[in-house]
Amino acid sequence: MDINVGNTLQMKKPHPCGSDKMKVLRIGADFKLRCEGCGHEFMTPRSKCEKKIKKIITE
Ligand SMILES: [Zn+2]
Repeated sequence: MDINVGNTLQMKKPHPCGSDKMKVLRIGADFKLRCEGCGHEFMTPRSKCEKKIKKIITE
């Protein structure tokens, strides 16, 4: 799965705030993501995150 910093991920399951879009802030063994709805930032393991991605939005 080709994910880059700056991409927006559309997730299969929305965040509790209702938004299903997460901005990619940092990439490594963990991804740092920011919810586009509420601005919440969090780290998540790459393997776990990739299973939850519905679509990668590249702009
Ligand atoms: Zn949110």
